[in-house]
Amino acid sequence: MESLPSIPEGTAINTTSKPLHISHQPVTLRNWYKKINWLNTTLVILIPATGLYLARTTPLTRPTLLWSIFYYFCTAFGITGGYHRLWSHRCYSAKLPLRLFLAFTGAGAIQGSIRWWSANHRAHHRWTDTMKDPYSVMRGLLFSHIGWMVLNNDPKVKGRTDISDLDSDAIVVWQHKHYGKCLLFAAWGFPMLVAGLGWGDWWGGLVYAGIIRACFVQQATFCVNSLAHWIGEQPFDDRRSPRDHVLTALVTMGEGYHNFHHEFPSDYRNAIIWYQYDPTKWLIYLMSLIPLFPQTHSLKTFRSNEIEKGRLQQQQKALDKKRSRLDWGAPLSQLPVIDWDDFVSRCTDEGAMLVAIAGVIHDVSAFVAEHPGGKTLIKSAIGKDATALFNGGVYQHSNAAHNLLSTMRVGVLRGGQEVEVWKKQWAGMEGQGKAKILEQVTRVEKPVAVAVAA
Ligand SMILES: [Zn+2]
Ligand SMILES: [Zn+2]
Repeated sequence: MESLPSIPEGTAINTTSKPLHISHQPVTLRNWYKKINWLNTTLVILIPATGLYLARTTPLTRPTLLWSIFYYFCTAFGITGGYHRLWSHRCYSAKLPLRLFLAFTGAGAIQGSIRWWSANHRAHHRWTDTMKDPYSVMRGLLFSHIGWMVLNNDPKVKGRTDISDLDSDAIVVWQHKHYGKCLLFAAWGFPMLVAGLGWGDWWGGLVYAGIIRACFVQQATFCVNSLAHWIGEQPFDDRRSPRDHVLTALVTMGEGYHNFHHEFPSDYRNAIIWYQYDPTKWLIYLMSLIPLFPQTHSLKTFRSNEIEKGRLQQQQKALDKKRSRLDWGAPLSQLPVIDWDDFVSRCTDEGAMLVAIAGVIHDVSAFVAEHPGGKTLIKSAIGKDATALFNGGVYQHSNAAHNLLSTMRVGVLRGGQEVEVWKKQWAGMEGQGKAKILEQVTRVEKPVAVAVAA
């Protein structure tokens, strides 16, 4: 977590004279402890575990419980509203009192300094799901949740990002420089002081409002890196792992609408529908409404036109995927072009059961016996152009009939109809659009006036 200040961003590392980084060496009895980042392990595992152990013998008073819950939300907001949406993504601007509050409560969440947290988070967005993503879920759910902090990772692997804006922010620089003291006071000292001076519960204040409260905030935030890349829906893009789920939103003050967030990271909202749970968004918005002293301003949102485009494209992708699983008949571009005389002679001389409809030749041999209109009608069309018959001359065939017919197509008539021209045009088209256009070429807008084969 906050062990990194030793290597400033962008510092070149001499790779030639150093042995292989510990993370690349096999585990042995002699080196296993070097693989652990002991400072982070102490802060995210050992101290929380001690707090839970102490809770067994520490009575929880009502005021301490209420204070712990209140301070939980303050420090969680320090991360979601401060570290994440304000400093990592610059989704809005905040006035000095609010920035001081967020820097203080964020430090109380024990998740490193703003500078360190934001650098990692920007790398996470820029290189999502790759090795350069510091907490890539591709390296396992547990790694993305906590493993990336408790293990010593090769700093050269992590992607670098531009944090020059943070380096020119006095609050960020000061908090980074004095992070140790900030942590001790905001995470443990302050909640203990409030409970101690307020109602005399010094020890309970430290155990519940300090240690256990911080443990809950940590685990909730870690869920955004793990669960929000693991469970839920992907309404805006499914090429990468981020997902939307109400459960992760509930435990993270609204950060669980993570698919949206990765698509539109500079939007101050994570949930865009009014009833979705995103209290971080509500607080940022409400603070912009404070009369005379609004604490937030310049709230950024993406145009709903752009958001809806993403949603629609994703829906289309799902539909196309379903469509591709069905048999729509051979694509016209793959069918042979057959002369009219050849078509007729195959039927009369070789006994083939071919019918031409809208310039496309269909082999109906397997279907004659099943034709709902009877064998006689369909047989009368063999070796002929049945466009008019099929499209209303005798009977206006159903949509299902057109779909079924397309699965029987075996060739395209040369010169007979426009289809040969379409076929040449479409031959150069690629992708899903082609299948959609070609699926029902036999359907003509109006019944053909002359029933050639009647
Ligand atoms: Zn993410
Ligand atoms: Zn983010």
